Amino acid sequence: MKPAPTSYKSTCCYCGVGCGVVVTKESNGQLSLEGDKEHPSNKGMLCSKGMNLHYTVMDQSDRLLYPQVRLNRSMPLQRATWDEALERTAAVFKALIKKFGPDSVAFYVSGQCLTEEYYLVNKLIKGFIGSNNIDTNSRLCMSSAVVGYKLSLGEDSVPVCYDDIEAADVMYVTGANPAWCHPIIWRRVEAHKTANPDTKIICVDPRVTDTARSADLHLQIRPGTDIVLNNAIGRLLIENDYLDERFITDHTDGFELFRLQVMQRTLAEAADICGVPSADIALAAEWIGRSKGFLSFWTMGLNQSVIGVNKNLSLINLHLITGKIGRPGNGPFSLTGQPNAMGGRETGGLANILPGHREVVNAAHREEMEQFWNTPVRIADKPGLTATEMFEALADDKLKAIWIINTNPLVSMPDMNAVESALKKSRFVVVQDVSNRADTVHFADVVLPAAAWLEKDGSMTNAERRITYLPKVLDAPGEALPDSEILWRFAQKMGFEKAFNYKTTSEVYDEYVKVTNGTTIDVTGVSHKLLKEKRSVQWPLSAIDAERSTDVRQPGTKRLFTDHQFYTKNKRAQIHALPDENTSEPTDHQFPLVLTSGRIRDQWHTMTKTGRVAKLNKHIPQPFLQIHPEDARERGILEGSLVIVSGRRGEVRVKAQITEDVRKGLCFLPMHWGKILGSNLVRANNLTNSLVDPKSKEPDFKFSAVQVALY
Ligand code: SF4
Repeated sequence: MKPAPTSYKSTCCYCGVGCGVVVTKESNGQLSLEGDKEHPSNKGMLCSKGMNLHYTVMDQSDRLLYPQVRLNRSMPLQRATWDEALERTAAVFKALIKKFGPDSVAFYVSGQCLTEEYYLVNKLIKGFIGSNNIDTNSRLCMSSAVVGYKLSLGEDSVPVCYDDIEAADVMYVTGANPAWCHPIIWRRVEAHKTANPDTKIICVDPRVTDTARSADLHLQIRPGTDIVLNNAIGRLLIENDYLDERFITDHTDGFELFRLQVMQRTLAEAADICGVPSADIALAAEWIGRSKGFLSFWTMGLNQSVIGVNKNLSLINLHLITGKIGRPGNGPFSLTGQPNAMGGRETGGLANILPGHREVVNAAHREEMEQFWNTPVRIADKPGLTATEMFEALADDKLKAIWIINTNPLVSMPDMNAVESALKKSRFVVVQDVSNRADTVHFADVVLPAAAWLEKDGSMTNAERRITYLPKVLDAPGEALPDSEILWRFAQKMGFEKAFNYKTTSEVYDEYVKVTNGTTIDVTGVSHKLLKEKRSVQWPLSAIDAERSTDVRQPGTKRLFTDHQFYTKNKRAQIHALPDENTSEPTDHQFPLVLTSGRIRDQWHTMTKTGRVAKLNKHIPQPFLQIHPEDARERGILEGSLVIVSGRRGEVRVKAQITEDVRKGLCFLPMHWGKILGSNLVRANNLTNSLVDPKSKEPDFKFSAVQVALY
């Protein structure tokens, strides 16, 4: 008799919406997949990427199947056993640490990693190697939002939840295209708007995106003018008496300086700088001021900027001066890019933090973790290298070894030619990945094959602080191992057998939740067993919060700050007075156009997964450059012409798409493609620059000076 099909509940591993999926393993071993109707985040809905997710695990043609090692780069990689590969890596790491110190090695990991994997790598390098050199591709994505929340609300804490969508009457979507990049959230917004036609959607974006097309008001600002716009709205809210004076007085600091700052620019000046009509700014301010539920959404347009933190703060200011936070339908909602960026930060997954949202610069926090881990070394008191700093340090030979886990920096990092040159010069590179399509494999001294989604178990946290468990459904092919097991086996080879003597990821998770005890992200008592039973929980679970859910099936805290007690020392939120000039790379006679980059609907990041799914490739099969008709005409460019986009660091050759969807003076390239037919002249990041926000260290992906010419 054939075995009956078996179904498993899991979570989509693409974006931070964190949709629940039901995977069914048929009797013939084939997989089918559908949205989980009981999952509160998506209620059964899936976008095109999620619907086709199972194809990425069924097609194993590109899988790394066994460990490979080479003694130098002139030799080919050769198959090795796990013991040989991990012992070789441990020997090199030990030798480098002995000779050059613990900061000579680094881990660069991914928002795709599971919470348990993040926890292990942080414990290993911060607590046992003695360096804070661990950063993630979340640095390229969310770090400006993280710092924005910390500086205004006192903590890296998304205060809202998806149910706030149905309670809002004004949605302010800025620097984001959720219609393509967070589709299930957007479907909830659209459904709410259909049921409540008076709901207003304001979209702020220099491009006409699908989100902008469905908005009631599109503010098509010049790139880099977001703070000017938000300050102008702030001024109008003051002048038109839309403030919540009581909230400002009782629960915030900094309003007077903010008022003085925003009064420095008239509405007419702001409109001129932003390149949008004054009346449209006034209308946006009026809708926000009159709203009962003001929900703002943003992603990379604010975050990936040299002034990204201040852009975030300028938006959060609007919630604080109107008191539109901590109440249903109100609050600033940073849309997480990656599926587990938030879970990673919970475990200390950035170069400046420790588990439980502790800070490496805080002596008490370091001591708590030293005691908890019983560390053989002191935790370093300075932040480690951030993402861009790691590759700069590799180029300068200050960093001797890098271990790259489940991310593809040769497509995703800014100033790609510099990153490629750094990897070429580097002494020792370990690549731990699922796919041989990861471009970094070519530079690896050691390649470690990792298990993919459904081939390992663990947990993730989505954009609304919701933690879910992802079960193991399939065996990994060849000798691939779960990332957690690779890390604990390596730690044992480094001599830390006792502290890394795990047998299961549940043991790792049980240890992790203990470090959250008493923190603002307390999940004490949560376990894999509980997550399997309840399906999901929203942190914190131990907060004193009036809004804490009483639904035993969905425990946790839906909304933060309902008591208006913030996580700052004096419990008051901080309103910031913000200068509004953009400090991006300047345009000039040679490079007069601004290039911005971003995602398209059916691809994910560097296409190592979605690029293998035929259905997804049909949507937009080739990279392209969007250019305004006037800019195209001045250059003799026709629709479909092959063009060279050149900048101060490199060039790209793609076909032109002439469209008024970009402003005059602005071009757009999708960020996904790394190579076509062996040529890397399609990589958008050949052109981007390594300028970073001084506070978040997030790169300025959205603003690079370029020229475009016919090829
Ligand atoms: Fe997956 Fe995001 Fe699509 Fe949901 S919205 S199915 S999490 S890619």
